[in-house]
Amino acid sequence: MSPQNRQEALIITALELFAGQCCESGHAMCDHTGACLDALDAQAQKNAAAACAARFDASGSVLSKRTEEPSSTWSTSELLRTVLDRVLTPPNIDWLWRSITITSALARLGERGLSPDAVLRTGFGRDLRRRILRDATAFWLAERDGSLTRDDVPAFLRGWVDLLDAEPALDGNDLTTTWTGQAVLPLSLADSARQWLRSAAVGHLVSWKISDFLAVRPGPDELVFPGGKDATRWVCDRLARTYLSEWSPASLQWELAYIRMPGKTCARAGVDPAILEERVCVEDMVVEELCHQVHTPEAHTEVDGDTMAEDLVPSLALMLRAGQLDAARTLARRAYEGCPSSPQFELAYAFCSIPTDRAESRRVLKLLDASAEPARTLIFANMAVCELFDGHTQSAQEWAAKISSPLVSDAVWLWDPVQALRGGPEVNLEPIGLWLERLHAAADQST
Ligand SMILES: [Zn+2]
Ligand SMILES: [Zn+2]
Repeated sequence: MSPQNRQEALIITALELFAGQCCESGHAMCDHTGACLDALDAQAQKNAAAACAARFDASGSVLSKRTEEPSSTWSTSELLRTVLDRVLTPPNIDWLWRSITITSALARLGERGLSPDAVLRTGFGRDLRRRILRDATAFWLAERDGSLTRDDVPAFLRGWVDLLDAEPALDGNDLTTTWTGQAVLPLSLADSARQWLRSAAVGHLVSWKISDFLAVRPGPDELVFPGGKDATRWVCDRLARTYLSEWSPASLQWELAYIRMPGKTCARAGVDPAILEERVCVEDMVVEELCHQVHTPEAHTEVDGDTMAEDLVPSLALMLRAGQLDAARTLARRAYEGCPSSPQFELAYAFCSIPTDRAESRRVLKLLDASAEPARTLIFANMAVCELFDGHTQSAQEWAAKISSPLVSDAVWLWDPVQALRGGPEVNLEPIGLWLERLHAAADQST
């Protein structure tokens, strides 16, 4: 038993003793109001709610109903979780049963006033987008390195793999290598996926079909429950995702409002109260998750609507390659503003600022801690690039000389030294050793 649970148990015992004595004394101790019993009741209810909250498991009961067709006897939580689980399963696995269960679960949700469009496009849209892009990227990469051919790519992913082929920023680049080792996704692909999520017919969303998809283009009000986007995600989060760490930050705010004012919050969300009563959350667990998010800002910084800074930063180099200098810098600035203590965001912002605002780049690079690798190498390399853009070849070489242990094996994104000297912004992915050689050659030649 945790110290907190022990205290809760003691409080109940104390209240029981008090109420017992108070009753015997003809309620002399509570001024004949019966408040002694009310206090005991309130505490017992609080404990029961905490126990109930701890028991909730969105996937538990769904697992035992795996072979049943979703029906009107299912809880809303079971229906939502089924949709989430199945829609993220690749469509070729058990495709007929997959399609039947998703379709009937969505229909049952629709009967309860939860629009299938809102559930799929807004409630679970981000999950679907990420899963598809991840799978498509994996196949695209495997095809590139020769471990399979286009014929091996499942039909439902071919349209997505074609989009990756058509991406100019990926020409001759390896998706896997970045500043951080994360896979890079071109933002234009994420945009196509967002567009598809907003406009494709539900059937085509379910089957992940992007090539020649049927566009139905529902209106903005049809993409959400009556309470709006955050309310939609909150309802879907709280009933389909057991762990609060998987919820969107706005959902945590909605939950706090709901705990304090259930009736009013439920009316605001535009959802039947009985649906929300399927799950109980207590304030402590919501507050705990909010604290966690405050204390780990890098993982919880959003740059726009639903893009997390962490996911965005690796894509910046591709935006720069595609010549979107201002857009990349704006996004990098937002990530940095959201979490200035993150060296990763700081470096990204300084890097994106070099072609347009070197004073700002230098200021931010100086703020970074240059005592450890690989930050040290990247800071000096970018300082050298600032000098190149300004035509100061000698100081560029001085900065470059400070790079003591080049990370020869790792390719990193850097501004091209030859182009920089001519004032031309161009980013390349190359091993730092090679980059240094080209820098020195270019600098020697121009002096
Ligand atoms: Zn004691
Ligand atoms: Zn009393």
